[in-house]
Amino acid sequence: MSECIFCKIVNKEIPATVVYEDDEVLVFMDIGPIIKGHTLVIPKKHYDPVTETPDEMLAKMHITAKKIAAAQMNGLGADGVNIMQNNGRASGQEVEHIHIHVIPRFADDGHHWNWHPKKYDDFDEMNNLAGKLREQL
Ligand code: AMP
Ligand code: ZN
Repeated sequence: MSECIFCKIVNKEIPATVVYEDDEVLVFMDIGPIIKGHTLVIPKKHYDPVTETPDEMLAKMHITAKKIAAAQMNGLGADGVNIMQNNGRASGQEVEHIHIHVIPRFADDGHHWNWHPKKYDDFDEMNNLAGKLREQL
């Protein structure tokens, strides 16, 4: 994936502020933080999207995200943490190399997600959608 910006960071072709790395994952500061301290966890090998990423790597990434969350709370004094992972343009994904956002949250940070809960027309509509999901599992 020679054009992938996160592969270029892994290969040290472009700089990043690294927080942690081992043989499998790299953790670095997001250049456009939602909240200062916003960090990205990526596999060193290129995978995308989540449905094409091996289970073992997903486990490793999420265990790493948990450690980063603890570091944000203990090291930055965060009161909470958002852990997010986008897949596909419709979800807002911009970089097509799987990554977990680990975002420190502070009681007074003033950030609000644009999160407006909707309603189903009725119970049948919700149950029909659940049925389509169950058929795939
Ligand atoms: P997403 O919308 O989930 O694909 O998120 C991509 C994230 O990558 C955004 O939060 C960007 O700010 C971040 N990003 C893009 N390029 C870089 C870079 N060169 N170094 C660090 N973070 C980056
Ligand atoms: Zn890549």
